[in-house]
Amino acid sequence: MLFDPAPKDKREDFFDREEEIEELKLLSSPITLILGLRRTGKSSLIKIALNELNRPFIYLDMRKFEEKRSINYRELLIEMEREINKLSSKFSQLIEFLKRIEGVSIMGNQIRFKWQGNDRLSFTSLLEALNDFNKDLIFVIDEAQELIKLRGIDLLPPLAYAFDNLKIKIVLSGSEMGLLYRFLRIEDPSSPLFGRAFLKIELKPFSREEAIEFLKRGFSQININFTEYDKVYEEIGGIPGWLTYFGYTYSRTRDLRKSLDETFSFAKRLIIHEFENFLADKGEARKRYLNIMRTVSVSCSSWSKIKRELEAMEGITISDSVIYNYLKHLLDSSWTVKNDDVYCPSEPLIRKTFET
Ligand code: ADP
Ligand code: MG
Repeated sequence: MLFDPAPKDKREDFFDREEEIEELKLLSSPITLILGLRRTGKSSLIKIALNELNRPFIYLDMRKFEEKRSINYRELLIEMEREINKLSSKFSQLIEFLKRIEGVSIMGNQIRFKWQGNDRLSFTSLLEALNDFNKDLIFVIDEAQELIKLRGIDLLPPLAYAFDNLKIKIVLSGSEMGLLYRFLRIEDPSSPLFGRAFLKIELKPFSREEAIEFLKRGFSQININFTEYDKVYEEIGGIPGWLTYFGYTYSRTRDLRKSLDETFSFAKRLIIHEFENFLADKGEARKRYLNIMRTVSVSCSSWSKIKRELEAMEGITISDSVIYNYLKHLLDSSWTVKNDDVYCPSEPLIRKTFET
């Protein structure tokens, strides 16, 4: 059902994106990036492809760390342990490959990783062991930009090693696209991943036509007569997750106004929560980030207009480099987009959240 608000794992519950599913399933590069704003369907796309491929996989959901300001190696390995134990309960031979490497202990049939000391588990050895176990393995890190908060270990050398030497495939998804690039440092000559050609799959929000077709198909699946497609697109925009929530709500209330309002208040709660996470490490600058979001939400604004507004609010001069830094962070975390030198909120419900 298209209007089921959970992430989808079957193609028949997923609207369109046929090409993206096929492209992902080809896994034509050692590392594939799935990019797109929050709630454009990245996790669903990955789950559908994994289901159809029927190959062994490890799926790390880094959303778990969204509220944290840093992640240590131990926390990462706990997640890996859980996933690898799941895998080894299906493929018992996996244990044989893992117990050969340093930093792995086996208790009963439970695998434990050592995260500190000289004999701690090396992430590269782990990837190598997984590759020896099964070259078809797919290693997914969902919302991989969270890894930028990882302290005490650098994941880029293991990722580069896997890229160059191993057969297993790595899939990284990211809602905060600039941040994911900042983590991977693909364009930085001193980065281990410099110059590698990644396959990129980008999920864009639905266009007006796609959004209308999505709603039409969703309502016809549940036999509801609906006609106000344009109004929904105008108020909500093309983010699939919000449209899904709208369809789900309307199927319950059968009241257009109520469903639109409920979708917006649901979206607003999530957006504010996510913005709070974004602000968590911004200290004194929190207020300024909020003011920038308010300014661009009232109307898309140029760099110089944003600077003028901020300075007028505070009655002081703010240096260009400081403003540049704020705008870069907002862009990298996909709160804003920049078109023709003008900064705008990245989607309509973000705009609506900050303009009120
Ligand atoms: P992301 O991982 O990009 O944040 P999700 O896969 O969690 O996005 O999708 C967000 C919501 O939108 C889920 O309820 C999902 O079912 C729905 N959704 C996203 N894309 C589609 C689509 N193409 N067809 C049907 N539902 C979708
Ligand atoms: Mg997701």
